Amino acid sequence: MKYLVLLLILAVVVGWFFGRGRRKVEPPASTKAAPPEEVPQKRIEMLACAHCGVHLPRSEAAFDVAGRPFCTPEHRVAGPN
Ligand SMILES: [Zn+2]
Repeated sequence: MKYLVLLLILAVVVGWFFGRGRRKVEPPASTKAAPPEEVPQKRIEMLACAHCGVHLPRSEAAFDVAGRPFCTPEHRVAGPN
C-alpha cells in the first residue's frame, strides 16, 4: 500500500512534468512574431576617383572607357593616378 501511494505521487509528478514540457515546446502560432521587414533605404553608392581618390556619388562620377570613376572630366583626361 505504501508503494502504491508512492507510485501514484510519482505518476502525478511525471505527468505534470511532461505536460509542462510539452506546453513549453509547442509555440502558439498566433504569437509567432513575423520577421521585421527590411525597410528599403535609398543608398547612394559612393565611388573613389581613380585619379585623386576623392569620394563622390555614382551619379556625379565621370567614367572613362574602362569604367573607372573620376570626380571631374579633367581627372578623367588625366587618367588614373
Ligand atoms: Zn579626382
